[in-house]
Amino acid sequence: MNKAKYELADIVKRFGKSFADTQALSPQQTKALLNIVRCRTSELVGHKEVCDCCGTVRYSYNSCGDRHCPKCQNTKQAIWVDDLIENTLEVKHFHIIFTVPHCLNQLCLWNDKEYYSILFRTVWETLRSFGYTHYGCETGAVAILHTWGQI
Ligand SMILES: [Zn+2]
Repeated sequence: MNKAKYELADIVKRFGKSFADTQALSPQQTKALLNIVRCRTSELVGHKEVCDCCGTVRYSYNSCGDRHCPKCQNTKQAIWVDDLIENTLEVKHFHIIFTVPHCLNQLCLWNDKEYYSILFRTVWETLRSFGYTHYGCETGAVAILHTWGQI
């Protein structure tokens, strides 16, 4: 696999400050950007690996472990995507995003389990209804929740 000319960390290094100056980033978003820039650099120090068989020594910088960092999540994501593709029917797919207004955040903090239950149930009912009404077909979905705060 060819290495990309630029990594997300390069873009964040180059434009992160001006982006942060013009956006109202949450503390989690700010921390994610900082982690992405620092990941696998001398800022996070490093560690030594020694092969049990041949004794080869390798030094590597530590990873940030941030769930938004593409370096840290790349392998996990690739495995997840491969597994999803293997278990997905060969039919037409759409990428659909449902967003929730920020004014409901406090409600989520108050009872996250019920909030997410209602959210996923509502999304699913909407997709099913839309499939029947507009296409006369049964729909399926893989639903993923993206949040910034890991509530
Ligand atoms: Zn990382």
